[in-house]
Amino acid sequence: MSDCLFCKIIAGDIPSAKVYEDEAVLAFRDIAPQAPTHILVIPKAHISGCNGVTAENSQVVAHIFEVIPQIAQAEGLENGYRVVSNCGPNAGQTVPHLHFHILGGRELTLEMA
Ligand code: AMP
Repeated sequence: MSDCLFCKIIAGDIPSAKVYEDEAVLAFRDIAPQAPTHILVIPKAHISGCNGVTAENSQVVAHIFEVIPQIAQAEGLENGYRVVSNCGPNAGQTVPHLHFHILGGRELTLEMA
């Protein structure tokens, strides 16, 4: 999608601090980190968000969840980390391209809202 921020990052039109890449997935550091480690993991194919996941494209979501522990290990998050995906305005989704936040590097509070 030409007007999607994360598609522009995938295309290399906007720079990112890349931590992982394969044919289907890109992971890069969040520009406004909420924890010492804050990484976004995204599918290269544009999916609008959780509501855009279908039987046809859900394989990449499973792949993302195989990649996340590899990234966590590489980042030294052996004491744990959180994976978050905001879906829609009430959840605070600001970029309409499916993404999973990896947050770690400190003890996280249990507040969900
Ligand atoms: P969300 O609010 O859940 O949609 O998450 C979007 C995330 O993208 C936010 O945490 C932003 O800080 C992050 N973000 C926005 N622009 C960039 C960028 N150019 N590079 C890295 N992260 C970004």
